[in-house]
Amino acid sequence: MRNRRLRIVVVVLVIVFGILIGLPILYISAFFGNVAMGDLTGSNEANEEDEALRQKYLEAAESAFPGVKSYNAEELKYKLHWGLVYAVDLYSAELERSGELPYNNIRRLAERLAPKFEYKDSTITIVTETKKIVEKEEVDETGETVIVQEEVVETETVVDEVLLLVTADTFRGTYFYSYEWETVEYEWDNTKVTITQEVVSGIDFKQSYERLDDVIKRYLDMDRVSEDDRTLILETAFSAGTGNEHFGFLIGMPGYSNYLNIGGIDFSNLPPEWIQAFQDAGKRYNVDWMILVAVAFVESSFNPNAVGPPNRTGELAQGLMQFLPSTWAIYGIDGDGDGKADPFNPIDAIYSAAYYLSVLGINEDPRQALYRYSGGSYAYADRVLSLSQTMTVGGGSGQLAWPVPGHSRITSPFGPRVHPITGQRSFHNGVDIGAPRHVPVVAAESGRVVTVVSHCREGNQSCGGGYGNYVVIEHGSGLRTLYAHLWSTSVRVGDDVLRGQIIGTVGSTGRSTGPHLHFEVRINGSPVDPMPYLQFVY
Ligand SMILES: [Zn+2]
Repeated sequence: MRNRRLRIVVVVLVIVFGILIGLPILYISAFFGNVAMGDLTGSNEANEEDEALRQKYLEAAESAFPGVKSYNAEELKYKLHWGLVYAVDLYSAELERSGELPYNNIRRLAERLAPKFEYKDSTITIVTETKKIVEKEEVDETGETVIVQEEVVETETVVDEVLLLVTADTFRGTYFYSYEWETVEYEWDNTKVTITQEVVSGIDFKQSYERLDDVIKRYLDMDRVSEDDRTLILETAFSAGTGNEHFGFLIGMPGYSNYLNIGGIDFSNLPPEWIQAFQDAGKRYNVDWMILVAVAFVESSFNPNAVGPPNRTGELAQGLMQFLPSTWAIYGIDGDGDGKADPFNPIDAIYSAAYYLSVLGINEDPRQALYRYSGGSYAYADRVLSLSQTMTVGGGSGQLAWPVPGHSRITSPFGPRVHPITGQRSFHNGVDIGAPRHVPVVAAESGRVVTVVSHCREGNQSCGGGYGNYVVIEHGSGLRTLYAHLWSTSVRVGDDVLRGQIIGTVGSTGRSTGPHLHFEVRINGSPVDPMPYLQFVY
């Protein structure tokens, strides 16, 4: 009896829901399962057609990106993900019941969804002091002419005019940058470099889906956008883009991710403030932030609205980190400082998970702590640990030192890609690591310097064969590493260098859109993916 009543209520609810909020949700919900399996065309199986379709959306999203103008390449954080273009288009096609994808003007759609940037002028002042020994003739007290050596300091001052990102207006809201002046000094051998520049001191974020809603209204011909419409579109975008385990074949697809794709989990669709929160919460509670990312991935596939199945006591796990209400009552933290600790607020969830894991003793016994976090599953603990490990060392032996200490954002991974300047399809022979100009670059391993190009100035795209200023180090056994687009070099051909020794500084010489290190690993002359060889540090 009870069951029947329940069923009737549910059926009635579905009908009311369908009439009031809209049938589209039901259509798309039916489709959602397919998207999660990587099947974009809805043919029940992912196929070549899906891949071609994904490529179309990827190209539309890429071409809508306004490019990098700021010296610190912050813009790359806000690149539009193809999944969102796809999700809006899918929704629109389903609504029109055209049953056809792609909708013909996805480039236009991507332009409307793409980020818009505002900049301000600033300067970077670089004072380079080089100690030199000069020989001078002097007459000593006995009247004889002698040669004396004297140490002199040559000073060179360069002032670069640069643009700094001030606001990034995105589909999910606006990011506001504030800066403060900072002076740093680097010293090696006979050289001291003093750099004075404005650095990011804070990023404020004001959430607003106004732009996204405008696009949805326009494309779906709606008067207003309901929360459900928007949520469904965002979830479809997430599902299409987060490397959910159900469509593992997407991971590592050529050109699929241009931002943080490490060890199999694709971060490219995650809001930048989440990544920041993973890192900050990890620091605050002394938890490896990669473990936090892996927990979020395994718990909810990065879905902040996820509600899990009931546990033994009938409680439902909630949000990004899948907290049970009873656990949340004790460990829930207001991570973003909005005055409320909410398990469905992803920032709160991240901080709370870090806190809870630290209480569970993640540093003493990670496996046991994760076992307890999951409510008693070693399989879960092992999965989280293995994911976080592969992220930590890029899945490899980690034998090479990270070449840009303190800067580890991968702005472009190894593999086929669309070149940011030429728009041409090409193969990217290395990884690009984003870092401001003049940050030291170190040798990834001890070896002998075999090539140094150091005459290139920024702006000359073809200098150094496109590499700009670069250094190649031979490590023996056929292993070489290459460091390109350098501002300056501080080694000569034939020098023996030690692992971790400064060999130059980050720049943007040669074919480059902004300061970064292009790092290659070559084995017997052939470039290989450097990530498995690198020790990943944050
Ligand atoms: Zn590169």
